[in-house]
Amino acid sequence: MNHLSNLFNENERKTYFQFAKLNLPRHTSYPSSNHWTKSSDSIPWKREMAAIVKTGRPLSVYVHVPFCEKLCHYCGCNKLIISRNNEDSDAFAKRYLQGIEQELAHLTSVDRWNVQQIHFGGGTPTWLKPHIFTRLWDLILKNVNLSPSAEVSIELDPRVTTTAHLQTLRDLGFNRISLGVQDFDSNVQSAIERIQPFEMVKSFVDECRSLGLNNINFDLIYGLPRQTRHSMSQTLEKVCQLSPDRIAFYRLALMPEVFKWQRTFQQSEIPDDDSVLDMMLMATKIFQNHNYQFIGLDHFAKATDELSRSMLDGTLKRSFQGMTTGDVLPVIGLGPSAISSTDNFFHQNEPVFQSWTRKVAEDIPTVKHYKLSDDDLICRWCINQLYCYRKLDKDLFEATFHKSFDSFFSHRLAALTELETLNIILLNQRQITLKPYVGWLLLRVVAAVFDKFLGPEDWKIGLPSGVASRVG
Ligand code: SF4
Repeated sequence: MNHLSNLFNENERKTYFQFAKLNLPRHTSYPSSNHWTKSSDSIPWKREMAAIVKTGRPLSVYVHVPFCEKLCHYCGCNKLIISRNNEDSDAFAKRYLQGIEQELAHLTSVDRWNVQQIHFGGGTPTWLKPHIFTRLWDLILKNVNLSPSAEVSIELDPRVTTTAHLQTLRDLGFNRISLGVQDFDSNVQSAIERIQPFEMVKSFVDECRSLGLNNINFDLIYGLPRQTRHSMSQTLEKVCQLSPDRIAFYRLALMPEVFKWQRTFQQSEIPDDDSVLDMMLMATKIFQNHNYQFIGLDHFAKATDELSRSMLDGTLKRSFQGMTTGDVLPVIGLGPSAISSTDNFFHQNEPVFQSWTRKVAEDIPTVKHYKLSDDDLICRWCINQLYCYRKLDKDLFEATFHKSFDSFFSHRLAALTELETLNIILLNQRQITLKPYVGWLLLRVVAAVFDKFLGPEDWKIGLPSGVASRVG
């Protein structure tokens, strides 16, 4: 792929492949959830939440709807497959709504929540029929003051979302939708058991826009079986034709030891490492040619989008829900497996639907929580700076934490020097900058240096498979 050589020369390729096979955290949260404390004690979260609500701070609500019509074979989400033709499907929906009502009853106090964001994810939120979804919405709205400027978003599967769903979402005031696209190639779609031809997605996007659902995100995955450089370039061009505002371009987390359904993938159909790297580079190039800005590890946004603007003006933030432009709001998670977070606390709900319904009838269905220490907050800040801005400024660090960067990370300075020798980062007196593009794509390796839960050499050794996913 000669046209990609200006993004990555041969030496950079060699460096990239030295690390691409390592398993390292994605740092969706810091610390990664495998370090949170397993516990069914709901009191710490109740106390934390009551204190936050009392301040009247704006909050974000995440609602996890766990049901899906059919299994996609790449899936890494918490879901329960139930065909809506199944005669029990209405009973599942009813038990789910009852569980959410019970969860809200455990969580809501005399103070109503001031909500600035609501996001519905899954699973497949529109697995719920429109009138059931409206009941879910009403249950939540009964307990909150929703800001008129709130961002109200939802993940949509174009295969199961009907016109009636879209009209309902418009009427309820939804203003951002995320579409699971993954890939437009029919061979890839059949390998991953998710059939949604380009024409179907195009007419779905047209319909969303005609209803005024104009802020559209696409989720794509690379590294899927049967993907080739050629098929990927065609998918990417089609994506640009539909012109989403934001694109998440994720590397497949291939972990068949955890996600057993991935064992249906033929090893011979998984693209080799060289092709996968070229797919990422190609996406970078094609999206940039279409005026998208590369953000973080795997996100692109139109140059006019507020994410791109805040990356440039230094106001971009990152939370476990992704990149955000305003303040990082405390999140209250509802539903099986939902994660909640405040400035220094994580809480996770029971993930298994049946257990969640049983536990939530009695109390908040806690399975894990974690209170961040002052050192955790410092490590998280550094990791998030790298993800948002691809650099770490020691002056900013010292102004924020009133500590010497070099003293605090004295045990990691040797690793930074090694990363500089490898040409992954540039070091000057006061700044650590990821080198384009090799450093950008190896961001997880650099972030691992700032993770106090990892040993000083783990950034170049990696973790056992199943604990973290491959870097590239
Ligand atoms: S629709 Fe999403 S959550 Fe459901 S099986 Fe497919 S990838 Fe997983």
